[in-house]
Amino acid sequence: MNKKEMYRYLDEISDVLTEASDKIWDYAETAFEEFKSVALLKDIMKRYCFRVEEKSGGIDTAFCAAKGESGPVVGILAEYDALSGLSQKAGASERSEAAPGGNGHGCGHNIFAGGSIGAAIAVAKYMEANSLPGVVKLFGCPGEEGGSGKAFMAREGVFKGLDVSFAWHPMSVNAILDMSALANYQVLYKFKGIASHAAAAPHRGRSALDAVELMNVGVNFLREHVIQEARIHYAITNSGGFSPNVVQPLAEVLYLIRAPKTPQVDEIYKRINKIAQGAAMMTETELEIQFVKACANIVPNKTLSKVMHDNLIEQDLPKYSPEELEFAAKIAGTVLPSESDLLRFMPFNASDARKCAKLLEGKSMCDIVLPFFENAPDALLPASSDVGDVSWNVPTAQVVTSCYAMGTPEHSWQLVSQGRTSLAHKGMMLAAKVMAGTAVDVMEKPDVIKRASDELASRLNGDSYRCAIPLDVKPRPISRL
Ligand SMILES: [Zn+2]
Repeated sequence: MNKKEMYRYLDEISDVLTEASDKIWDYAETAFEEFKSVALLKDIMKRYCFRVEEKSGGIDTAFCAAKGESGPVVGILAEYDALSGLSQKAGASERSEAAPGGNGHGCGHNIFAGGSIGAAIAVAKYMEANSLPGVVKLFGCPGEEGGSGKAFMAREGVFKGLDVSFAWHPMSVNAILDMSALANYQVLYKFKGIASHAAAAPHRGRSALDAVELMNVGVNFLREHVIQEARIHYAITNSGGFSPNVVQPLAEVLYLIRAPKTPQVDEIYKRINKIAQGAAMMTETELEIQFVKACANIVPNKTLSKVMHDNLIEQDLPKYSPEELEFAAKIAGTVLPSESDLLRFMPFNASDARKCAKLLEGKSMCDIVLPFFENAPDALLPASSDVGDVSWNVPTAQVVTSCYAMGTPEHSWQLVSQGRTSLAHKGMMLAAKVMAGTAVDVMEKPDVIKRASDELASRLNGDSYRCAIPLDVKPRPISRL
């Protein structure tokens, strides 16, 4: 079997991947509760004769499916969790909830799963057909959104023994994601006060909601005095009930603290803790700080990214029908105008950026591959991914493919709507081929593994992976925060 034949094989099994992706879209299960999605994926991997390890790293909705014996060990990462509150009808070009208040695949992790299992199955087929020694491992990674499932898995050593790993992400352009991303901590601050009649006995109450508000004000003043790249967000997850005539006895706020490196996140976290303690003192409430999760920054790997880019440019890119382009244009008309987020952060110089923008001008779907700059300094994507924790342990490369109309924001109803359409399916197949092609290249060229691993060692410069999540912290579904 040659690589072209492997891609044809992927086309032959595209129904299996599309169906899996669509079903996971329908299930729309959020972090660490992806039970139906995981059952479906494990079932498919077993059907293709993979050995399935259940509950990898002790997490109920994680798994690892492996095929092959000795030789290079290649990991392929799959995600499958949805986001809360983003329920949306598939294929609609206007906001229309499918289930009121329900969840939705606002980050396209349903296609992520379909593309990744496809890549693993194709690599196994190629290995078998060519008697190529090696092991391919498909990692079922739960709870990427707000859960950092891979960080918990990495803490338990799940990714040990891999030579390289690959991942992808659905997006609105075709490119290699040769970039770093922000490390983060997610922390829940719980305040406990004293309930009382807000009019008759306000002096006998101590308001937990006041504490949350004062904490947030304090942190909003802190923003001026942290490094430029830091990002701090919060959601009030418990405002103390719906009764303004009660002094709220309990209130909670969930913080997400991001910065380029974990020690920088840690420094800001400690300052935020002081603000929370101050708010508790001001209001005479009790404070409890619960660490929820963390993820590491991504360590890019140019050696692997280059091999992946070579595999991306040798693919026939998807062609779109007039109906598909019309739908994409309608979707594009519903989002606020902006350059593609990825374009903004690619390591372009100004003239390359202008050239790319020109090439994409007026297109509703991206049908080109963005250039790869081998010698450019690392770019930083102002987002986070728990792929970061994998990338500290093993050389990792990621591809993004065009699955959505240009300019579609992540975590939006527009993205959910497109995630169960032929646009997404086409991008998924492209990603599966690029990952499979890259994986077999690496398995056949041990020098690439050596160079990629030397690059990782040199980037870490003597540092090594330490999971930032304390050992006693377990993965928590968002419904149980
Ligand atoms: Zn995502």
